[in-house]
Amino acid sequence: DRMIDGELQDQDVEIEFSLRPSTLAQYIGQDKVKENLTIFIQAAKMREEPLDHVLLYGPPGLGKTTLASIISHEMGVQFRSTSGPAIERAGDLAAILSSLEPGDVLFIDEVHRLPRSVEEVLYAAMEDFFIDIVIGSGPSARSVRIDLPPFTLVGATTRAGLLSAPLRDRFGVLSRLEYYEIKDLCNIVERTADIFNMPIASKAAIEVARRSRGTPRIANRLLKRVRDISQVKGEEEISLESTKEALNMLQVDDAGLDHVDHKLLLGIIEGFHGGPVGLDTIAATIGEESQTIEEVYEPFLLQLGFIQRTPRGRVITSKAYDHLGIKRTGED
Ligand code: ATP
Repeated sequence: DRMIDGELQDQDVEIEFSLRPSTLAQYIGQDKVKENLTIFIQAAKMREEPLDHVLLYGPPGLGKTTLASIISHEMGVQFRSTSGPAIERAGDLAAILSSLEPGDVLFIDEVHRLPRSVEEVLYAAMEDFFIDIVIGSGPSARSVRIDLPPFTLVGATTRAGLLSAPLRDRFGVLSRLEYYEIKDLCNIVERTADIFNMPIASKAAIEVARRSRGTPRIANRLLKRVRDISQVKGEEEISLESTKEALNMLQVDDAGLDHVDHKLLLGIIEGFHGGPVGLDTIAATIGEESQTIEEVYEPFLLQLGFIQRTPRGRVITSKAYDHLGIKRTGED
C-alpha cells in the first residue's frame, strides 16, 4: 500500500471512526459544498420533507462518507450505509429500502458500480418512492409494487463520468469535493492531534498538511506515524524536526510525492525528454496499466501542475523539473 494513497487502508480503520466529525460546523473546508448543503437542509426541515437526493463526487479520502453521515445527523434521521457492488440484486435493494424509516439517509458508496438491473429499480424508488419487483419466474412470475417511505439517497463516487445519465439526473443536489487547501488540512491535522491528546507545533502541522496531497485521510494517516516518532523521542509537543524525520522515513517528499510518482515523472523525463508522450506509451515504459496511471497516479500530479495533458500527450512542466532538481535538456 502506498502511504499517500487516498483509498481506505487497514491502518485507517481504527482511527477514522473516532476522527469523523458529526456536524457541518465541525467539517473543515469545502466551503461551497457546505454552504449549499446548509441551505438545502434548512429548507427541507422547514418544509418537513426529506432532503433531495445528493450526489457527492471527487477523489477518495476527501470526506464523502463523512459528509453523508453529517447530512443524516443534521436532518435528525438514521444513517444507513451500503455500496454499489454490495447490492447484487433488485431484491437486496428492496430489502434495504423497505426497512427505512421516513426521511432516513441511505448512503450508497461507489454508486457507479450498481448493477444495471438494480439501478433501473432505483429510478422509481428515487423519483416516486415505490419499487416494482418481479417475484417467481416463468409463467407464474408476477410483478409486485412496494410503497416506500420517503428517503434521501446520498450517492458517492470517485468516477462521476461513469454514472449513467438517468441516474445522475435523479439527484437534486450534485456536489463536487475538491482537494483541500493547506490551511484547511492544517486545521484537520490540529483537530486530530487534539483528539489524539498530543499537541503539535504549528510548523509541524503545516508540514504534515503540505505532504498530504490535499486529502484528510492521508493527513490523518501521516500524523499517526509522526506521533509515534515524536512519542518515542519523549516530546511533549510534536516538533517540526520529528515530523520531517518521520515523513522522510516514510519516503513522502515535500510535495507529498512518493517513489511511484517519481517513477512516473522520471519515466517521462528520461525516456521522452519530458513529453509530449501518449498515455499508453508511458504505461508500457514504466510497466503500469494506463487506467491506473490515469485514475490513481495522475490526478494529484495534474492538480499540482507537475503534469499537463495536451492533445499530443502528457508533458512534464518546469514546476516538476524544479521540484525534482533536474535541469531541462535536449529538445524542450
Ligand atoms: P472513500 O470514499 O475512499 O471512503 P471518503 O471521501 O468517503 O473516502 P471519508 O471516509 O469520509 O472519505 O474521510 C476520511 C477521513 O478523513 C474521515 O475519517 C475523517 O476523519 C477525515 N475527514 C474527511 N473530511 C474531513 C473534514 N472536512 N474535516 C475533518 N475531517 C475530515
